[in-house]
Amino acid sequence: MRVDAAGRRVSRSRRHGARAEPARSACASAPSASWPSVRLAGAGARTRCASSGRRPAPAAGSVNCSAPTSPSLSTRGPEVAGGGELVQGNQACARAALDAGCRFYAGYPITPSSEIAEAMAIALPPRGGVFLQMEDEIASMGAVLGASLAGRKAMTASSGPGFSLMQEHLGYAAFTEIPCVVVDVMRAGPSTGLPTSPAQGDVMQARWGTHGDHPIIVLAPASVAEVYALTVEAFNLSERYRTPVILLYDEVVGHVRERVWLPDPATLVLGERPRPGGPAAGYRPYAATESGVPPLADFGSGYRFHVTGLTHDERGYPTQEAAEVARLQERLCAKLERGRQEIVSWEATGVEDAETVVVAIGIAARAARRAMTLARARGERVGLFRPRTLWPFPDRELAGIAGRARRVVVAEMNMGQMLGEVERALGGRVPVLPCLRADGLPLMPEDVLASLERQAPAGASR
Ligand code: SF4
Repeated sequence: MRVDAAGRRVSRSRRHGARAEPARSACASAPSASWPSVRLAGAGARTRCASSGRRPAPAAGSVNCSAPTSPSLSTRGPEVAGGGELVQGNQACARAALDAGCRFYAGYPITPSSEIAEAMAIALPPRGGVFLQMEDEIASMGAVLGASLAGRKAMTASSGPGFSLMQEHLGYAAFTEIPCVVVDVMRAGPSTGLPTSPAQGDVMQARWGTHGDHPIIVLAPASVAEVYALTVEAFNLSERYRTPVILLYDEVVGHVRERVWLPDPATLVLGERPRPGGPAAGYRPYAATESGVPPLADFGSGYRFHVTGLTHDERGYPTQEAAEVARLQERLCAKLERGRQEIVSWEATGVEDAETVVVAIGIAARAARRAMTLARARGERVGLFRPRTLWPFPDRELAGIAGRARRVVVAEMNMGQMLGEVERALGGRVPVLPCLRADGLPLMPEDVLASLERQAPAGASR
């Protein structure tokens, strides 16, 4: 145990340096079927798997590169013989943030997210950006919110323990409608847990970690290409809806290296926050506009306004007037509900005739997809539903798809966090069964297959 700059007792292992690339992951036995590219206008990010049904994704360390593997400090990976480049998930996150226009990063390093900070520390200054190593994650979020109020696209990254420290400021950002992107690369927990073994234990922390009521957007990529695409999407949604957006992925997705073809940044469609165009006098930063997203002036641009975590009126001044309080709470929920169709994204594969639908995110979805392919090869009708938007949870879409199945299996690397949400979505119409792994190792296709066999419904097709 040591004491950090903020005077807290910190276990050495929590801040431990980057661990070796995982020797095995679910992607090492990656699907032979296609792994779809993501919905992102102009991005076109894809893996080799995305464009070919014949070639499996490269396992970590198994690709024949034409250049030596670079350290994770660069956002650019070595070119791969035959095309593309070899990029790590965390590298892709940093690269996408830069391409999306992020010019401010404040953070405290913690594995398995540290490569994002390392890459941003090197890449931001030459681009006119600012990198701040803060004393802790509380201060990191404070700095990010200040930079965003000054008009910069801003982000931070951490893992579960640091993400916990960010929660108060996350609630502040949601309530004061300050755009920002927070990356949580999940490790096993609780507390400092297993630095830094893979887990998916922050599914509920990402949704309910703060106090009070507010909606939030959480995106859950499952591949390196998708980390890139959803990081860009995170900035776009954050700006358009004036809300914090969380990018949530597990250690395997953060550390695995895959061959990808990332887009020319010039082709990206980037979102910007609405800004006021009228006179500074009478500017209302929390006005109930038709879109539900009021314009946000940059600090220093001539508009004077008040920002407080207290419940506030349209001018930003504190109020306890019940009608004003209700109006603010309802607008915060309504603005994301109104944009739900643009925000919510999911992938469904092989579900048309499925008797069993597996629901999974992140690297567990890669394992589930492989298990689905193997199960179908032996005549079992198995499909996969993968939320790319974890919150808002695609409950209506899942209900529409899995409502026809005979059972739903939730495969996740925790003790059943998404399981409860799937049960809520299906409302008892379909049996929901667990396939859980929470021992610090990645969920494997064999785990899903074993679960399918253990819990097969009577008379299921084989
Ligand atoms: S981050 Fe580096 S310096 Fe800090 S405890 Fe870990 S190994 Fe030591």
